[in-house]
Amino acid sequence: MQDPFKNAQSQLTKVAKLINLDSAKLEKLLLPDRFVEVSFRVRMDDGSYQTFVGYRSQHNNVLGPYKGGLRFSTYVTPEEVKALSMWMTWKTAVVNLPFGGGKGGVKVDTKKLSEAELERLSRAFIRAIADIIGPDKDVPAPDMYTNPTVMGWMVDEYSKIVGRPSPAVITGKKIEDGGSQGRVEATGLGGFYILEELATKFKLEKDTTTIAVQGFGNVGYYFAYFASKAGFKVVAISDSKGAIYNPNGIDVEHVLEVKQTAGSVTNMSDVDVISNEELLKLDVDVLVPAAIENVIAETNADKIKAKYIIELANGPITPEADSILHAKNRIVVPDILANSGGVTVSYFEWYQNKHNEKWTKEEVFKKLEDTIKPAFKEVYSKAEELNSDLRMGAYALAVSRVTEKM
Ligand code: NAD
Repeated sequence: MQDPFKNAQSQLTKVAKLINLDSAKLEKLLLPDRFVEVSFRVRMDDGSYQTFVGYRSQHNNVLGPYKGGLRFSTYVTPEEVKALSMWMTWKTAVVNLPFGGGKGGVKVDTKKLSEAELERLSRAFIRAIADIIGPDKDVPAPDMYTNPTVMGWMVDEYSKIVGRPSPAVITGKKIEDGGSQGRVEATGLGGFYILEELATKFKLEKDTTTIAVQGFGNVGYYFAYFASKAGFKVVAISDSKGAIYNPNGIDVEHVLEVKQTAGSVTNMSDVDVISNEELLKLDVDVLVPAAIENVIAETNADKIKAKYIIELANGPITPEADSILHAKNRIVVPDILANSGGVTVSYFEWYQNKHNEKWTKEEVFKKLEDTIKPAFKEVYSKAEELNSDLRMGAYALAVSRVTEKM
C-alpha cells in the first residue's frame, strides 16, 4: 500500500512548484509541527488491563488552533495521521476558517469493546493527550468509528482535568452537550451548495441535470435530499450492497425509508438494480462519489461519462485517474473544498461554545452557504489564474494562505 504521508508530501511539493513557494517554507510544511505517540492502560470489564497506542499529529497552526478528527481503528498508523493532519491544514485554509490542521487516533478494534470499555478508552486517551489539546490549541472532532457520544465523554474528561466546563475543546458533540444545529446535514448540504455554484457557472437547468450519488450514508443521503428538493434529478443512488437507477428520477426520501426498513437501497421497487461500478459509468451530468476512497482509478477513469464530479468522499479519485479526467476536460470539485461543510459547521460549533451562543439551523445553513460558495469562486479563479484544474487551484489557494501568514 502507498504511504499516505509520502503522497501528501509529494502533492505539496507539486503545488509548491506551481506557486513558486520559497523552499524554506516548503521544507517546514512537509513535516508536522508536532507528532505525539502515547500509550495508556485501560481496565477491561473482566478486571484485566490492556495497553493501547494512540497518536496526535499537529501539522500547522499559523491560521488558528489545530483542527481535525480522532479515529479509532486497527488501521491507524503514524503515516496516516500525519497525512490527514496536513490535508486538514489545506481543508480549513481553503474555506478560510481560523484553524490549522490536526488528526489523531487510537489503534483499536472498537467492535471488541463493551460500551463501558469504549468510554474508559476514550477518557484515557484524552488524559494522555490533554496537555497538547485545548480550545485555543488543538480541537479534535469525530472521525472513523468515533461519534458524538465519544466526543461527550472526551469533553467531560478534559473539563475535569482543567477544572472548568470546556465544551469548545472538541466539536461534533450532541446538541445537549453543546453541539451545533445543522452539523448532521453539513457535509451533504455543503456539497449541494457546490452543485448550485456549478449550476450557475455552467448554466445547468435543474430539472434536466441528472445526478448519480455513490454512498447513501450521512453525506450521500443529505446531498441527494437537498439536490432533489431543489429540483435536480437524482437518477442513481448506491450503498455497499449495490446501486439503483431510474432515468426518470428517484424519490430520495422513499429510498431512505427502504434502506432503514429493508437494509439496502437495492430493495427499492421501480428501479434497475446495477452495480456500484456501473453507477460510476452512467451517462449522467453530475457524479458524486460519497462513500469511500479510490473508487475512480486508472482502470475506470476513461469510462466516466459525467462532465462534473463533486468529491464528497475523501480521496475517491486516485492521482492517475485525476490526470485522465483532467485531460478529458472533466470538472472535478476536489474533496478539500467539496466536503468542507463538516469542518465549517464544526468551526461554527466551536465559535458558539466560546461565545456562549446558540444559533438556529437556518442561521447555520445560511452561514455555511456564505462560507462555501465564496470559497468555490476563489478556487475557480485561482485555477483559471494558474491554468490548472480545480484541485490544484484549491491547494494553491490553501497553501498560499498558510505560507503568507508564515
Ligand atoms: P457513512 O458511514 O454514513 O456512509 C457511507 C456510505 O457508503 C454507506 O451508505 C455505505 O453503504 C456506503 N459504502 C460503503 N462501502 C461502499 C462501496 N464499496 N461502494 C459503495 N458504497 C459504499 O459515512 P459518511 O459520513 O457519509 O462519509 C462518507 C465519505 O465522506 C467518507 O469518505 C468520509 O470520510 C467523507 N466525509 C464525511 C464527512 C462527514 O461529515 N460525515 C465529512 C467529510 C468527509
